[in-house]
Formats: sequence, C-alpha cells, structure tokens
Amino acid sequence: MMSFDEFRAAVLSTDDPEDKKRNKELVERYPFLLPRYDWSQEPLEDYDYGFTNLDDLPKGWVKAFGLQMCEDLRKILVEANYLEEYRILQWKEKWGRLTIYSGGYPDEIADQYNAWEDKYEKLSTQTCIGCGKPGKIVYSGWISPWCKDCFYEHYGNDKNYSEWTKEIE
Ligand SMILES: [Zn+2]
Repeated sequence: MMSFDEFRAAVLSTDDPEDKKRNKELVERYPFLLPRYDWSQEPLEDYDYGFTNLDDLPKGWVKAFGLQMCEDLRKILVEANYLEEYRILQWKEKWGRLTIYSGGYPDEIADQYNAWEDKYEKLSTQTCIGCGKPGKIVYSGWISPWCKDCFYEHYGNDKNYSEWTKEIE
C-alpha cells in the first residue's frame, strides 16, 4: 500500500521543469512549504520539487491568497528568528475553513501568529475553493465555499445557489 506521502506525490507531482523551478523558489523563500514525513519531520527522500505543502490547499485558495499568506507568515517568523524551525504539520480545508496544525511557535509572536491564522481562516470561508473568486459556504454533504459559477458547474443547474448557501442555524 502507498504511504500518504507517496500518494500525495503521485497525485500532485509535476514533471514540468518550470513548475519545479517555481516550487524550488517557493521552498527556499518559505521553508515551511518543504514536504516532510509526518512521523519524523525529516524532508522527503528523493524530493525533486514536484510539489510543495502549498499543494495541500484547494487551488482556489492558493490562487487567491496562498502566496500572500506565506509572505505574511514569513515576516512573523523572521521576527522571532524561527523561519527555519517552524513546521506545518498539516494544513487543509476542513468544514469549508482553512485549518492549520503547526509544530508550534515562540510565545513572543503568539499574538501576531494568532491574528495571521484568524485572518486567513476567515478569508478562506469567503473564497471559492475552485477558482479563488469571492464565494459563500455551500451546505451540502460537503461544506465548502464556492462562487456561483463554480457552484453550478459542480452541483448542476437544477440546484439553487441562494438556497444552498443559507446559514444553517
Ligand atoms: Zn469559483
């Protein structure tokens, strides 16, 4: 059976040299984007820049605010001299919201870190996971933010966006 990391690599890996070059630049500027094994936190063996941790997020989010989010986080970490130590254990979409599990950070930057996390969690719930345009949470079996266009593409024209994006009390 494939490990999760192998599975992820197989799904997301790019062979395009331009993409790999870009991924390498990303990982150099944002070391927390370097993929690591869950259990040891060592970098993946034979890693060839085919993907980064950014690929764990929905493509709409990456497009809309992915790089700004990394840049903002980088600034905070640099302030505490913690850029190389900081680890994203996992970040993903959960119930329509960006959810981040980190390896921790120094107390001195806790306020800035929490403000950063709150900002992007909130923004994520208002950003279409498909294309990155402003969106609303759709309450179907899967709770995710979609814009109107992607909603109809995804769910079909017989559904009603206004109905499905109503808050559930
Ligand atoms: Zn969309």
